[in-house]
Amino acid sequence: MPRPWVPSHVLVTAAAREQPHAAEMLRRIEAAGVEDIRLLEGNRLTGLADGSEREVYARAKATLALVVAPPSVTKPQPIPPSADWRIDLARGCPAHCQYCYLAGSLAGPPITRAYANLDDVLAGIGTHAGRGAVTSGTAARGHEGTTYELSCYTDPLGIEHLTGSLAEAVRRVGTGHYGDDVSLRFTTKFGAVDDLLVLPHGRRTRMRASVNAEEVASRFEGGTAPVPERLAALRRAALAGYRVGLTIAPVMPVEGWRDQYAALLDAVAGSLADVPDLDLTIEVITHRFTPGSKETLLGWYPRTRLEMDETSRTAKRNKFGGVKHVYPRETMAAMRHWFTDALEARLPGAPMLYWT
Ligand code: SF4
Repeated sequence: MPRPWVPSHVLVTAAAREQPHAAEMLRRIEAAGVEDIRLLEGNRLTGLADGSEREVYARAKATLALVVAPPSVTKPQPIPPSADWRIDLARGCPAHCQYCYLAGSLAGPPITRAYANLDDVLAGIGTHAGRGAVTSGTAARGHEGTTYELSCYTDPLGIEHLTGSLAEAVRRVGTGHYGDDVSLRFTTKFGAVDDLLVLPHGRRTRMRASVNAEEVASRFEGGTAPVPERLAALRRAALAGYRVGLTIAPVMPVEGWRDQYAALLDAVAGSLADVPDLDLTIEVITHRFTPGSKETLLGWYPRTRLEMDETSRTAKRNKFGGVKHVYPRETMAAMRHWFTDALEARLPGAPMLYWT
């Protein structure tokens, strides 16, 4: 079992220190044994880009910054197809996944910024309740209420022992602080779930384990918990009454992919078989990359064996002219067909919310 992440460096901006939640974060950070905690005079994080690309990456991945989220971050944004809205408790992640989707969406050295103004960040749950186009008012998912995705720009469980932000969000939503028709969802590649089990979650948070075939997880997901540990955590959460889910991502047609993903689904089914009142959903995301994410990832992981070959992919353009490289139509169809059947056979009754 990997140890929880202990950052080598913690930076705390002056504005972050004034926030009530900062004291709880600092208590946790000190309890984790961090020795280098720097209280900054101002609010700028400087010197992050000094040195070689390797040095910048290594230092950034070993650094946690407590900062104040600006107003642009505290305003919830739509996040289809997962949820109505995105709420960011933090930006960045200490793990080292060689396909990390953050590479295409976050600029600059990959430090982890945790937001100290938690009240501002969570306030969006109240202001946006009853609005949204993914679950709110829909026939398929309206029973989830207005939904808020917490893991768009971070893995919230991977840093929870240092922030406590996820527990606070779960507790507030679970006790109706923002009304009775809202729910949270997060996905994680970590397993330290025990502190969440005792919370008054009110079954209003869905924890999903982000899982993959063994070959993908062991080769490309550095610094995360092994898949069996993630599944054990998912089981504990389900037994504690949480709604749960699988984020199977990013799916790759690696050698023997049918057997590999079958083994994964068998392990999931075995792990959850006897859980009473199980509420399990499935999300499946195939691997894709953009020119920008490829460049960033090759800078971070120059020796990666991750396939990012444009010539073996199909280019998909969005309405803004951006391009992403996805698997060709035949590969996608074969995988989708297989997953649909395999999920139905192994996890009957668990809806696939989307395939992308
Ligand atoms: Fe990126 Fe998620 Fe891996 Fe963190 S756990 S490095 S956010 S893919």
